[in-house]
Amino acid sequence: MDFKFSEEQQMLHDTIYKFTKKEWEPRTIEIDESNRFPMWLWDKLREMGWCGLMVPVEYGGAGLGLMEACIAFEAATHAGGDTGSTLGWATHCSIGTLPIVLCGSEEQKKKYLPKLASGEWISCFALTEPNVGSDAAGVECTAVQEGDYYILNGSKTFITNARIANIGLVMASTDKSKGAAGLTVFIVDMDSPGVTVGEPFDKIGNRGSEQSEVHFDNVKVPVENRILGEGDGFKKVGVQNLEYERTALTAIWTGVLGYNIELSVNYARQRQQFGHPIAQYGQIREKIAQMQLDYDIAKLLMYKSAWLKDNGIPGAMESTEYKVFIGQANMRSAAEAIQIFGGYGLLKEFKIERSLRDAKLAQIGAGTEQVLLEVIARMITGIRSLTM
Ligand SMILES: Cc1cc2nc3c(=O)[nH]c(=O)nc-3n(C[C@H](O)[C@H](O)[C@H](O)COP(=O)(O)OP(=O)(O)OC[C@H]3O[C@@H](n4cnc5c(N)ncnc54)[C@H](O)[C@@H]3O)c2cc1C
Repeated sequence: MDFKFSEEQQMLHDTIYKFTKKEWEPRTIEIDESNRFPMWLWDKLREMGWCGLMVPVEYGGAGLGLMEACIAFEAATHAGGDTGSTLGWATHCSIGTLPIVLCGSEEQKKKYLPKLASGEWISCFALTEPNVGSDAAGVECTAVQEGDYYILNGSKTFITNARIANIGLVMASTDKSKGAAGLTVFIVDMDSPGVTVGEPFDKIGNRGSEQSEVHFDNVKVPVENRILGEGDGFKKVGVQNLEYERTALTAIWTGVLGYNIELSVNYARQRQQFGHPIAQYGQIREKIAQMQLDYDIAKLLMYKSAWLKDNGIPGAMESTEYKVFIGQANMRSAAEAIQIFGGYGLLKEFKIERSLRDAKLAQIGAGTEQVLLEVIARMITGIRSLTM
């Protein structure tokens, strides 16, 4: 077992960390207030070649593994704390692109991957619906084949990047009678007639990413845009994607734990009360130590999950544990960091209040804490719960 970054991994980390500190972190308040994904940032990510992190080199990507993707997202939020914009970027790189990398046909790979990897096109992944959240197998959106096309109807919601995406990977039912076994994933051109995308939601946090409703009204999707066969959407595409999703997307919430520590330590060293820096007071020191503990445990869980996946070893338990832990750690870390800042912690200009607004999503997105704890319990006991 080797716990050290390779030279290339270290360089990737340091380049992203430095870039974020210099150009991204100074604009995080402006990004948060705009409630929009910053397209200037996307142009920078494109320039640096970071839009196709896990796309194989032969399709124009960086050809990196899940470990490197985690290192990249972790470095960005460690340096800038902006889990919102990083979510937009990570969604494109992971769930928006990986189903094509992992399960796409050669034609699909040649057609879509080079443009996704260069960042000319942005992608989104559309599973959640107004009536379908945790119970993802209950998708109501339908795709009915008519000749060379499927006709797509239904609505999706909370879709990250939908407004700015050129393509969407959409989960729809091709056979209602089969439930999860009747779900299929399609690559949908977001400019197709019949696709309508709503204005981004006005959220509490993660405001540098955009989530919208998407409506499909008799949208014609060519048969060649189906990923794998009918009914493979949940069991094959979804399952292959899951550990990547839980690990890569979750990496954005590991880095921010480091950011919270950086800000809190700087503040605690310079803030004087009762004639001493507050960093000398035991209760403040304990908070900082606990935050560091959470950060280090999160990194270990993240690297282990990524390493297992990159080495072809099943890691469903590890990626699920990591996702549950990160949600709890984010809530703890944000609350304690703000406490260290006292009243100033509530002011936007001190840049720490956002961490609490952003943290809640870590317990909800990519599987809620309750559902994932149930998944862990199922893996340990081998017995399903009464509700799932
Ligand atoms: C910022 C953001 C970005 C998102 N991005 C995307 C995206 O890009 N693509 C996409 O498809 N979706 C996306 N989502 C949707 C996200 O995946 C869902 O919000 C999530 O899966 C939970 O679904 P829900 O919100 O409908 O909650 P519900 O499933 O309605 O859950 C409500 C509550 O009930 C609990 N609960 C549900 N079932 C059980 C049970 N059996 N036992 C115990 N408790 C239970 C949940 O844990 C939760 O506390 C995003 C959501 C957000 C907020």
